[in-house]
Amino acid sequence: MSNSAKTHSNLLHPGREYVHALFDATRSPSDIDYEAFYEGTLLATRLVNTPQGLQHDYSFYFGKTVPADTPSGFLVEWGPDYLPYQYACDKAIGELTAVDIRAVERQRILLAETFTFEVHDNIPPYAQTAIDKNAAGEWISTIRIHQSVYTDALAKKSSPEQNARENLKVACIFIHEVAHAAHKCLFGAVRDDWYEDSHIAEAGFEAVVRLFGFTPKFSHGWNTWTTWQCRKTSGPYDLTKIGRKVWELPDEAETWLIAPEFVMKLSEDEFWEGEYVQRGAYALVADDVPELCKPGKEDDYVYQAIPLSIRDLFRTEGPSYAKTKYAQYASPERQLRRRPDHDERFRKMPSVD
Ligand SMILES: [Zn+2]
Repeated sequence: MSNSAKTHSNLLHPGREYVHALFDATRSPSDIDYEAFYEGTLLATRLVNTPQGLQHDYSFYFGKTVPADTPSGFLVEWGPDYLPYQYACDKAIGELTAVDIRAVERQRILLAETFTFEVHDNIPPYAQTAIDKNAAGEWISTIRIHQSVYTDALAKKSSPEQNARENLKVACIFIHEVAHAAHKCLFGAVRDDWYEDSHIAEAGFEAVVRLFGFTPKFSHGWNTWTTWQCRKTSGPYDLTKIGRKVWELPDEAETWLIAPEFVMKLSEDEFWEGEYVQRGAYALVADDVPELCKPGKEDDYVYQAIPLSIRDLFRTEGPSYAKTKYAQYASPERQLRRRPDHDERFRKMPSVD
């Protein structure tokens, strides 16, 4: 692969024994066997510490928020309360300094104090994050993991491949829900913001898609990549409620099989100690992405589903998309992201994601 020699200076390499405080057992109920989640949360730790995982969190915490310039999709008639904000950052993957990374880590540690985990069987699969005030009047998020996720994690796996699929599922569920908790930690009980030019304001999917370029979707027996953003109104989540320009979206997201080798390598120490060290961010990117990022593919819907930060990895000329498109989001004096003051469109409302 042409980009195999390009690595990043901010390559972190957590060892096997280290599960990040965001994912460790200290915030889980005492009546579950947290060991069941160990391999999955170890993978989650490794993923959020990759150059792209760090860049996502840096943008999330230290990007800039502005009122969204595009109204939400079908629900404009609901009025301005339903118009969230959008945020972006002008730093590309690999551009974070050691000080930036320390700033991200400080926020992660603070975040870890603001939520707990529970296992539930009366929620839609796979998980959701709710927010409430504790006895001291502080906002606390509760990440509810569906019972089936716990049961599947506990079950003995018939093969290394099944084990690896399970680990990826657990890792993505935790990363997804922790992203919602992070949003609630910053802003309280309000809807997620749109990240860059996303059509759907969904912090959880954003956190995962920016690791791989596409989003893994989980089934029993196989995993697929999905383009995720679509005009889906059925099922437990009506995405149009959190969408903008949804008329530009397809009715269904595209899905295709993830190569089993790709899923398996993520659970192998040899990958993290070998290919990942060699290739950095590129080692995590879905196999289909480099080809799609070649010039001339810009009109392709699947290309457009790839986040700008990942497309930037394969841009060979000129400044990155992040630099050119989001120059106004540059924040030389790093500040925690906030919403604009005195915006009449903003109203606090309870939310469950
Ligand atoms: Zn979500």
